[in-house]
Amino acid sequence: MRIGTNHGSLSDRIMSRFGDSPMGMVESAMEFLRIARDEQYHQIILSMKSSNPLVMVQAYRLLVQKMATEFGECYPLHLGVTEAGDGEDGRIKSAIGICSLLEDGIGDTIRVSLTEDPEFEVPVCKDIVARYAGACQLQPATDDARRPLEISTEKISWDPFHCQRRQAVAVGNTGAAQVPVVIAAMSKINLTDAAQLQPVGYSYDAASDKWNIGDMAADYIYTGDTVPTFALPGTVQLVSSYSCWQQHKKQTIPYLQPGEYTTNHQEVANITHFVGITSQSLTTELTALLKNDANAILVAEHGLPALQHQEQPFTAPLQALRGLCGTLVAHGINNPVVLKVTSNNTTVDKQLITFATEAGGTLLDGFGDGIWLENHEADIANTQITGRTYLPVSNNAQFLNNTAFSILQATRTRISKTEYISCPSCGRTLFDLQETTAKIRAATNHLKGVKIAIMGCIVNGPGEMADADFGYVGSGPGKITLYKGKEVVKKNVASETAVAELIELLKENEAWVDIN
Ligand code: SF4
Repeated sequence: MRIGTNHGSLSDRIMSRFGDSPMGMVESAMEFLRIARDEQYHQIILSMKSSNPLVMVQAYRLLVQKMATEFGECYPLHLGVTEAGDGEDGRIKSAIGICSLLEDGIGDTIRVSLTEDPEFEVPVCKDIVARYAGACQLQPATDDARRPLEISTEKISWDPFHCQRRQAVAVGNTGAAQVPVVIAAMSKINLTDAAQLQPVGYSYDAASDKWNIGDMAADYIYTGDTVPTFALPGTVQLVSSYSCWQQHKKQTIPYLQPGEYTTNHQEVANITHFVGITSQSLTTELTALLKNDANAILVAEHGLPALQHQEQPFTAPLQALRGLCGTLVAHGINNPVVLKVTSNNTTVDKQLITFATEAGGTLLDGFGDGIWLENHEADIANTQITGRTYLPVSNNAQFLNNTAFSILQATRTRISKTEYISCPSCGRTLFDLQETTAKIRAATNHLKGVKIAIMGCIVNGPGEMADADFGYVGSGPGKITLYKGKEVVKKNVASETAVAELIELLKENEAWVDIN
């Protein structure tokens, strides 16, 4: 029997005591689990589903802790991010939620729930499971799947149950309470034409000699050993290797490797500079220097060999990256930290999983003032996600930039686009969910920060759309009910006019902006 708790449909009784919180989800499941245990019934698996990966991860962690303290044993867990949506956003949200837990050894079965045909869910699950193939050993069969579990007494410098952002000082536009920055990896591109910045959010209009800056415009561009041959827009900063900076000191910010920093730290002491760190390179000498450096932005990498899926033993890169951030806290180093994740994977799907898990999972625990994604695949253009083309990308730089902003959006650390919460559809679905989602997305994808739920039925839809600002819910054949938050505002709207009515609703509530 599965005892499943859904963040969006907790009982009034639980809501009045705990609110729609991770603890409320855990208490809801524990009530039923206690009843089953009193009856000596143990054939149980539990799930804690939410469309918000942070809520989902905290709920499972709390549940494990609760079972360990109350029973001294743990029942198996089924993991999934519900109403994750479609395309790369659905995959990123799912990977952040599911893999953050699997990486810590929590979870026994998984479902990736996408607003797509069901056959597109399975390959994503397989990619996720393959990532952990080297970490798992088959358990001997028993009557039931309970496992003894003790609470670890190991002290950690962060709270796994309540996300609190690590307190970093500000260095320029990075750190303190500012949104995490995005560094665009462009060191493999010879930048000679302003149009080459379009994939990372900057479009140059030659006629007016002006730059148009998109909502997903990178904050920094890393160009390695070269500098562009054209003038950059004022809102983006250039980062180069230390040796390149020595030739172009007025143009770029230096990025120093640990050895370069320990030797040359005085040369960069009075200017903003980036310093690469891993657990292995964080020596006593480097730690002492960083503690007294008010101008350093740290670039943290896990420092392990990049996972290739099934080709090597599992090394828990998320734990290594999070552990490195925790070490900084323990040493009192409060410089901002940019999370740098490199993927060696050969498919877009697997790259998304690596980026989402390692950067997204670390952000979920409050670590990270920026994100920098690199890959070893030069040509992502026109590749497909699990058989369907989702990424409207023209090149690898755009893929990495879009993925970085999507990870920040999924972890709710930086909102740069509309958020869609859409159910996977089932036998109850009362309209073509994929077609409608695409229609609503086309009309509303410029509404930065607005959360829109698209749910197939009135039975479960309203309860499961949790924290959406507006809801579009099937209420009968050809009929739609529109919601503002949890409140019904328009009933039984004909599906032919429902998208236009949704737009009207957005306008009435000042959530709409015209496209210029
Ligand atoms: S149609 Fe209803 S029951 Fe089916 S997946 Fe969507 S919200 Fe859930």
